[in-house]
Amino acid sequence: MKIAKVEAIPLKMRFGRGIEPKDATGMDWDFLDYCLVRVETDDGIVGWGDAFAYNCRRAVVAAVEDMIAPRVIGRDASDIAQISRDLQQGLHLFGRYGITTFAISGLDIALWDIAAKRAGLPLYQLLGGAGTAKVPAYSSLFRYADTEMLGEMVRRSIKDGYGHVKLHEIRIEDVAAAREAGGDATEIMVDTNCPWTPEVAKRMAEAMMAYDILWLEEPIFPPEDFAALAKLRAETGVAIATGENACTAFQFQQMMDEGAADYVQPSVTKVGGITEFRKVAAIAETAGVQIMPHSPYFGPGFLASLHLAQAMPQPGMIERIYLFPEAELYPGAYDPVDGTFGAPSGPGLGIEPDPNVIRDFRAE
Ligand SMILES: [Mg+2]
Repeated sequence: MKIAKVEAIPLKMRFGRGIEPKDATGMDWDFLDYCLVRVETDDGIVGWGDAFAYNCRRAVVAAVEDMIAPRVIGRDASDIAQISRDLQQGLHLFGRYGITTFAISGLDIALWDIAAKRAGLPLYQLLGGAGTAKVPAYSSLFRYADTEMLGEMVRRSIKDGYGHVKLHEIRIEDVAAAREAGGDATEIMVDTNCPWTPEVAKRMAEAMMAYDILWLEEPIFPPEDFAALAKLRAETGVAIATGENACTAFQFQQMMDEGAADYVQPSVTKVGGITEFRKVAAIAETAGVQIMPHSPYFGPGFLASLHLAQAMPQPGMIERIYLFPEAELYPGAYDPVDGTFGAPSGPGLGIEPDPNVIRDFRAE
């Protein structure tokens, strides 16, 4: 079964935030971008992948079409590990990070979908999972930069069954407001997206720790300054989560060697796909560091994250970004049951994307 066709399918859709922020310091972000990767074999099996494309959709589409497709057409679709290696080696001059690795991730997820469909199994079973785990979900909130709105969304998350809520706020008063709204029984995490120098990060970490946060995520720019993250952990005792901007297992190995993280966050649509994600999971397990998958998306990568979680002994939690897309590629797949996620049990990724959504939201 040879790879006959590789197609990048870009989508763009508006999303709601649940509540409309009125403060300009919130995130300036209105549309979800997707780069679906559709792979077809010469014997007619179709697999779906997902290359991270938020705010970089056209660049990722070009990478899939121009850099990936010509290198894999005609190859055996089941030769996934070797294809991953060959793409990484063949494309390394374009950077072992970012757009190139997003595109590789998209192809890799599609090849795993094909492999599981060919076996007639849900992907988790091919990966070594029974599919019976109930993995806790956490809601990952938008940045509102408004204490009242934030409090409202924390309460709404709890009502929806989430016991853990992640903020994307960078102000102390917002963390305080979330703690007040969540009460003592809710775990609160703070994702800052790399805003600070090490000195500022130390001050902020100490102030936020007063509100009993479970972790502080990416507090320092640049995210690969592992020495600074390790120093911050050692000096303040704050638990650090990081890794959504790391690509390949090699970078995760460096991160863990330097003692930079309590929670490592590989993102299956960015890190190099399922193949590379599993390498990260293996080294995290031997290093004794908790995996906490990064999965704030609604495409095949979200399903892939659910399947991977079923096949790990300590899967952490599933991140559900608390946004509301105007259409659902996989209707009903994004809502946890009793605060937990399983994985769909159909062959491959378990559900096929809705062709009407693909038609209606196809972008350039
Ligand atoms: Mg994050």
